[in-house]
Amino acid sequence: DLTEKLNDIFKVIKSKGVITEKDLDNALREIKFALLEADVNYKVVKDFTKELKEELKGKELEKSLTPGQIVVEEVHKKLTEILGGQAQPLTITKTPFIIMLVGLQGSGKTTTAAKLAKFLRSKGRQPLLVACDIYRPAAIKQLQILGKQINIDVFSKENSKPEDIAKEALNYAKQNGKNVIIIDTAGRLHIDDELMEELERIKQKIEPDEILFVADAMIGQEAVNVAKVFDERVGITGAIFTKLDGDARGGAALSIMKVVGKPIKFAGVGEKISDFEPFYPDRVASRILGMGDVLTLIEKVRETENEKEAKELARKLKKQQFSLDDFLNQLKKIQKMGSIAKIIQMIPGMNKVKIDDEESFNKEIKHIEAIILSMTKEERQNYKILNASRKRRIAKGSGTRVSDVNRLIKQFIEMNKMMKGMNKSKAFNLMKRLGIKM
Ligand code: GDP
Ligand code: MG
Repeated sequence: DLTEKLNDIFKVIKSKGVITEKDLDNALREIKFALLEADVNYKVVKDFTKELKEELKGKELEKSLTPGQIVVEEVHKKLTEILGGQAQPLTITKTPFIIMLVGLQGSGKTTTAAKLAKFLRSKGRQPLLVACDIYRPAAIKQLQILGKQINIDVFSKENSKPEDIAKEALNYAKQNGKNVIIIDTAGRLHIDDELMEELERIKQKIEPDEILFVADAMIGQEAVNVAKVFDERVGITGAIFTKLDGDARGGAALSIMKVVGKPIKFAGVGEKISDFEPFYPDRVASRILGMGDVLTLIEKVRETENEKEAKELARKLKKQQFSLDDFLNQLKKIQKMGSIAKIIQMIPGMNKVKIDDEESFNKEIKHIEAIILSMTKEERQNYKILNASRKRRIAKGSGTRVSDVNRLIKQFIEMNKMMKGMNKSKAFNLMKRLGIKM
């Protein structure tokens, strides 16, 4: 995938002590192909590599001691930029706040409505889900089932027009203390006038504060073209990309900001309701570049553990006292959080590990646990004392091989390296710098 391709390119360029203009041109050409292959819009790629080249020329690479790092840093900066630069989180500015989800059929609107409702409730809001996809009875039922699962009210009504349902839902919300309204709308397999007119009517009647275009990342460039039409017809304020967990080439996410000019607000990363997160361009750029995404990981952990534990973890990270025991603890917490495969990819050093299901991850954790528990207390606090004979003893004690012990230590070191940087002030800059170190 894109991450692997870019990593291969970086490996070559980082191994060079001196980068000539020819090296740079080669690398840029390969980056260009990798992005095109990931289905990034052609014009976006062209601008990207052109600007990258100009900026790198100004850096006097031939005089730098670490030219490869500069290249990686610059690619990260540019990727962040085309993903929208600064994160533009959803901000709730009034009560009730109305969010309308639009998009093609199957793009993930109904699922996303539930995910978003749960997310907003975790931030202290009182959401109401509204079923405005009235053509398929199954669609209303689907939203009701999801609402029930997360214990959030779903407003629906038979024999009414979508715009009237939306309007009534607004009144219902006001009377029942709901301060965010999330409207699920109908979709079609292709753009058609009837649907656009219906969405326009809903929009006119209730004047949503946000109209979010839900895009299936799997359909690639087509998602960007469709977004453009929805924007022209209905007017969108942002996008939510779904199915970023799949084999999606991700190129659409990299193009939409430049092509449509609307920010990505959230990402859907799985079928479960908890597989949903705010979209941070710099973190996504880090993830694409295989630097892991420690900030999102820590947030996920924070959601599930209590405040006190989170503070303790932060303290340890700052003091750089993060030990193999803590490593194991964190992994076990992650194990409890669900949608493990996605979360585990955020751990630096783990993002190259292919984990297709929870079962194999659970097995992996059992392995890691066995290895760590086979260490003495001293070894767990300081892995550096692990010499060949200690490693052999640990492998024997845990029923693994020395190569497994080595791999674990490597993962731990990479994670630690990433964590260490967290004590410096600006997380954004850190992510970059840390990634480069790896
Ligand atoms: P709608 O027609 O736009 O309302 O789409 P649905 O919400 O019904 O979703 C269509 C399918 O996509 C369902 O099977 C969902 O489970 C699936 N889906 C939605 N979001 C995601 C996601 O982020 N990841 C994955 N893997 N599947 C998703
Ligand atoms: Mg639906």
